[in-house]
Amino acid sequence: MAIIGAAFARKQLGKHIITTKIEHHAVFKTCEYLESLGFSVDYLDVDETGRISIEDLKDKLREDTILVSVMYGNNEVGTIQPIREIAHLLESHQALFHTDAVQAFGTVDMDVRETPVDLLSMTGHKINGPKGIGFLYIRSGGSIAPYQHGGEQERKRRAGTQNVPAIAGLAVAVELVKEQLSARVDRYLSYRKIMLETLDESKVAYRVNGNSEHFLPQVLNLYFPGANVETLLVKLDLAGIAVSSGSACTAGSIEPSHVLTAMFGAGADETKSSVRISFGMGLSANDIRRAGRIIASAVNELVQV
Ligand SMILES: *Cc1c(COP(=O)(O)O)cnc(C)c1O
Repeated sequence: MAIIGAAFARKQLGKHIITTKIEHHAVFKTCEYLESLGFSVDYLDVDETGRISIEDLKDKLREDTILVSVMYGNNEVGTIQPIREIAHLLESHQALFHTDAVQAFGTVDMDVRETPVDLLSMTGHKINGPKGIGFLYIRSGGSIAPYQHGGEQERKRRAGTQNVPAIAGLAVAVELVKEQLSARVDRYLSYRKIMLETLDESKVAYRVNGNSEHFLPQVLNLYFPGANVETLLVKLDLAGIAVSSGSACTAGSIEPSHVLTAMFGAGADETKSSVRISFGMGLSANDIRRAGRIIASAVNELVQV
């Protein structure tokens, strides 16, 4: 809704869009669809920690750029992008700035007054809210064209009768996140620490993929040199540990993660031997310790073969 809506609203001003190589498919595939309609899209590279460079963005920015879409925090490796800098850079440019804040919303304190994005999207189920509902923040003046036509609901921006129970549930989930944000962050940071300590104690070789300074606390992506990720995931699944090799939305696909590929290059070992772990509200410190031990012994079995 944000990307198609912004592109259609601004198409008289240009047809150039900038996004990144590590977006969630929700953004990525939508940009590919816009390419099929004649828009041109530049996909920004990331460094080995998963961050884009502002200089690179400045270089790619053109007079006819109408939209820049950069995710807040990455769902596979947790890297947080320089959203405030991008927002300030684009303040004096015609391009609208959308950020996919779906993964970051529950653990990052975000304020659209300090970080002047034009469009910010999030979804309910990533913050323990209902499924099938999310919201799109639109800065006043940053109008978008409807992509869904029919009735005049939501000030003609999105046709169709609103799902009021889901909206009410989302509102409560958002209020809870606001109240509990720092407690959630502390909790996930402690889980992260416990997980890494457990792996260290078990003498398993690993490296953390992502950025050690700008990262989401609930996402931990680990590279286990020499471990075949497909086999590892099967072992872990049988042991009751639900982790993945990429986005949860592409589970079942055997394609290597496009995020790790963007970070390390096509065919890099990291793309074949990395696991994405995420922490949720339903877990305890003991669960994390147990999972860490199971992961360590599964990896040790695999790399000794
Ligand atoms: C989960 C996720 C989405 C997709 O949200 P759905 O509500 O599941 O469609 C988009 N972007 C990011 C970064 C996500 O983590």
